[in-house]
Amino acid sequence: MYYVMSPGPTEVPDSILEARGQWAPNPAPALDPSFLELYHKTAGRITRYVGGGADYESVIMSGEAMLGLEACIASLTEEGDRVLVLDNGVFGAGFAELVEMYGGTPVIYPVDYRRPLDPIALGLFLKESHKFKYVTMVHCDTPSAMLNPVMEICARFAEYGIPTVVDAVASVFGEPLDVKSGISFLCGGTQKALSAPAGLCFVTVSPEGKAALAARKSPVIGAYANLNHYLGYYERRRFPYTMPVHDIYGLAAALDIVEEDTERFERHRYIGMACRAAVEKAGLALYPQGGYANVVTAICLPEGVTTEQIIGKMRDEHGILLAGSLGALRGKLFRIGHMGYNCEKEPVERTLRALQQVLTELGVALEADMCEIFSRRC
Ligand SMILES: *Cc1c(COP(=O)(O)O)cnc(C)c1O
Repeated sequence: MYYVMSPGPTEVPDSILEARGQWAPNPAPALDPSFLELYHKTAGRITRYVGGGADYESVIMSGEAMLGLEACIASLTEEGDRVLVLDNGVFGAGFAELVEMYGGTPVIYPVDYRRPLDPIALGLFLKESHKFKYVTMVHCDTPSAMLNPVMEICARFAEYGIPTVVDAVASVFGEPLDVKSGISFLCGGTQKALSAPAGLCFVTVSPEGKAALAARKSPVIGAYANLNHYLGYYERRRFPYTMPVHDIYGLAAALDIVEEDTERFERHRYIGMACRAAVEKAGLALYPQGGYANVVTAICLPEGVTTEQIIGKMRDEHGILLAGSLGALRGKLFRIGHMGYNCEKEPVERTLRALQQVLTELGVALEADMCEIFSRRC
């Protein structure tokens, strides 16, 4: 056993685990409409949390967050569509593969992975080039701990009537978001800042997003990833397949925690800042150079050690699980997650105290006590 301090999945609070253990009705609305009402209420809570009104619709899908991302791409992309892919991170780049898989032509807008996307530069780019079916971007690109100003960016795309697909899997419920800024499809998942187990994803669709889905001419390739099979479930009183009732109970319990937590974003902000300050004061380098996410800290690997050594010693000698990185960043940095349930002073303190010892034992000379600096700033 170890304490999970990776940037998703996270530790899961007991109230969520208990909610998942309840007796559950058969989810078929024809047999018992009570689950349909619970699902609808839960989806509505997500819509409201991200700022959507009655004309927005959230669907909760049984699958890890990648399903929600794939569903957006599958449902929007038609053969030959030009799709703008904003790429300043591993997940940002990943959208291009999905677009290609569904017959689209990704047009990559590349940005240095250590820098956030710049809405002003994008505004200038759009003046010259705006013939795109839709655009994809990532709010918190977790492998690099990069936070992009997606609300400002989506507002620019809205001026050109270009639908926006936003991967907010790691950020939603940990960083402020408002879909009314111009977000057409907001994708989230349960195992990041909601601190529920992995297994569900959700997509909040704007009226413009729905119009874009309705405007396509060819049939959607795929069934499980077809958003049209989910949207309108309440009016049709039918789900596309048997819903995972226990997962939805867990999600509802996670939303109870989130809705009662009025200092949630503020806490993520100061824990994130204090963690970054501790790391930098100790002489370690943060990976991003601006655009710091508050749900995760990404630290450049110090000279002479490997991510496996750090993660292995943290896990085996201190019972704390950290993470490395993915894709092009694998082996270059390691990460501390401080999202949702783990975004509290105590677990981060414990993590930094252990990390201080591990790095020191591995021969990394640290210039300050990370735990002490973190505690002072919290
Ligand atoms: C976690 C995450 C996903 C889902 O990816 P998994 O590797 O399957 O967990 C998608 N996008 C972002 C930004 C994420 O952080």
